[in-house]
Amino acid sequence: MNIGPYSIEDYMHMIKSFHGNIAPGLIIGGFMVDLAKKNLPDEILFDAISETSTCLPDAIQLLTPCTIGNGWLKVMNFGRYALCLYDKYQGKGVRVYLDSDKVENWPEIRDWFFKKKTRKEQDPNRLRDEIIEAGPDILTCQRVVVEGAFLGKKGKGAIAKCPSCNEAYPVKDGTLCLACQGGSPYRDTPRTDPTEEKPSLRIITGD
Ligand SMILES: [Zn+2]
Repeated sequence: MNIGPYSIEDYMHMIKSFHGNIAPGLIIGGFMVDLAKKNLPDEILFDAISETSTCLPDAIQLLTPCTIGNGWLKVMNFGRYALCLYDKYQGKGVRVYLDSDKVENWPEIRDWFFKKKTRKEQDPNRLRDEIIEAGPDILTCQRVVVEGAFLGKKGKGAIAKCPSCNEAYPVKDGTLCLACQGGSPYRDTPRTDPTEEKPSLRIITGD
């Protein structure tokens, strides 16, 4: 069984180097992208939607030309393990989701998907074997049409300097940039102060 042009083993190496660990969701995500692509007409330019922010966006980025950075992949975090590939101009596409009924036939996958076991109780090798054995059998593919509002390129429009932070931002966001409007993740106003002790860089691992 292959995922696109890759053997399962090659794909798992790709996951490891890109994502950091061979997450079960990413193996399933590979089958999801593969199934969606097989159901799209050849030779169309497609965009992608991931309906979750965990794992699945990385499968899309590994196996299609769509990335967050090039704007062809949108993450709409509904928390559903589903993706959609669609004609970027016409909106016609396919949606593939991990089917909660179909996983009932696969106990390890079901218990992982519904978090019925703690990570300690899980047997990662059995789970991986089951995922590979199941392949697309736990997935359902649907025809969808993406709303016009989501199609086409949306430019940033005019750019100005934010009167509060002095950084460039899209004028359409308002009189201040979105960070200065209260969306900033930082506790204090960032300072450029060479006398201050440098924060040590920490590499944080995990999934
Ligand atoms: Zn600002």
